[in-house]
Amino acid sequence: MNHDLPLVSIRHLEKRYGALTVLHDISFDVRRGEVACIIGPSGSGKSTLLRCINALAPFQAGSIKVAGIEVRDPALDKRGLRRRVGMVFQQYNLFPHKTVLQNVMMAPIHVLGQNRHDVEERARRLIAKVRLQGKEDTFPGELSGGQQQRVAIARSLCMAPEVMLFDEVTAALDPETKKEVLVTIRELAEDGMTCILVTHEMGFAREVANQVYFTDKGVIVEHGPPKEIFNNPQQSRTREFLDQVL
Ligand code: ADP
Ligand code: MG
Repeated sequence: MNHDLPLVSIRHLEKRYGALTVLHDISFDVRRGEVACIIGPSGSGKSTLLRCINALAPFQAGSIKVAGIEVRDPALDKRGLRRRVGMVFQQYNLFPHKTVLQNVMMAPIHVLGQNRHDVEERARRLIAKVRLQGKEDTFPGELSGGQQQRVAIARSLCMAPEVMLFDEVTAALDPETKKEVLVTIRELAEDGMTCILVTHEMGFAREVANQVYFTDKGVIVEHGPPKEIFNNPQQSRTREFLDQVL
């Protein structure tokens, strides 16, 4: 693998729902180990963009390459793509009748057919990594929202993805548990995990992002290092948005 090549490369992406264009001429690269934060008002196409990257949403024009794999290829191996691209949503959707450990172990065993012993070792390590050691045999309903979200992150990591997509993963959490989840994501980023995250947490974006993309109505209005976007936005739409949320 050539480490200078972008891990995710998006060119002239167009996505429509019927007559409605929700993503228009989106192009950007994310290199290995980089954290890209996508910010912008609700309805600007942020979730749709993430869904295009892991082939949950088909798109009409342009190209998305993940580790050299063209997502728009009709012969795309979706399973192969999704094992490279982990995704965590606002809704963690853990299996309520399975323990934390079972939730984390499930996909690698059932989707990838991996050896249970190896998967368990990895799952236990990841549960500790998201700071839930001791909760392996607990059921999701006994955990806080933030703890459940961290289980969801560990579950996604257990597939050994090359890039993680986070879609407003803290939006439904109360401030205290929110913080634990943000710490987990920051630690992942510090360990070198490539991340693309949609967030309303501007302080967090400022702290962890290498690049910030401000989107509105399906276009990238401007992008740059967090310092530039937050301290010195060039576009009036960016300034208006930041004035509202900061
Ligand atoms: P964001 O995540 O930035 O809030 P979304 O990607 O969810 O934005 O939505 C972008 C636009 O696409 C919105 O206008 C939304 O109504 C529309 N949209 C999203 N999903 C669908 C869908 N499945 N069918 C039709 N329109 C959709
Ligand atoms: Mg969204």
